[in-house]
Amino acid sequence: MEKAETPLQHVQATIAQACQIARREPGEVTLIAVSKMHPAAAIEPLLREGQRHFGENRVQEAQGKWPALREAHPAVQLHLIGQLQSNKADDAVALFDVIHSLDRPSLVKALGKAMDKADKRVPCFVQVDLGEEQQKGGCPVAELPALLDQARSADIPIAGLMCLPPADIEPAPFFAFLDKLARDHGLEGRSMGMSGDYETAIKLGATHVRVGTALFGARPPQD
Ligand SMILES: *Cc1c(COP(=O)(O)O)cnc(C)c1O
Repeated sequence: MEKAETPLQHVQATIAQACQIARREPGEVTLIAVSKMHPAAAIEPLLREGQRHFGENRVQEAQGKWPALREAHPAVQLHLIGQLQSNKADDAVALFDVIHSLDRPSLVKALGKAMDKADKRVPCFVQVDLGEEQQKGGCPVAELPALLDQARSADIPIAGLMCLPPADIEPAPFFAFLDKLARDHGLEGRSMGMSGDYETAIKLGATHVRVGTALFGARPPQD
């Protein structure tokens, strides 16, 4: 009897299909499994299936879960996808392999210093605020060129751009705009697309999709 498809297999197949439609290679798209608020026991099955990229949105939560998981799975790549406070820059640089939420001059300064101190360069996506929603973080589009310059001066490797479009409205125009911004600035990476819209994001150029609910089910309620 054939085994039922796992959520990971389903998402991988959907990514492959979206790539085929967009005439892209599936290898161009990195699936980041967003494990925020899920315990280690929920993450382990994905690790056993071979998933290697994981996303967390809080430094402290990730510090609690990942050191042990990583010991068993040293090839794991950990992505910080949530807003980062400057005073957690050292911790973030120590723990994460990629940061998706670089969005302001004070954080460039803090991360540059933290990377110097740790002698470790962590590639960063610059998060762009395309929906003018300040509470989600993100650099205003008008300030992007200056922030990129500043990050380069601080010797922070820029992986690309990231966006988190407003909920409940059609995301495609935001994805298309992020793709254009990345192209205009000669940047490779586009971190965009979540459970509800990663196919659309891939068709519009996403290189990193951040998928939580479609892999883990609904997140446990926050306290
Ligand atoms: C939680 C989160 C995701 C994943 O959202 P899902 O809808 O569960 O796939 C992606 N990106 C960011 C920045 C997030 O905070």
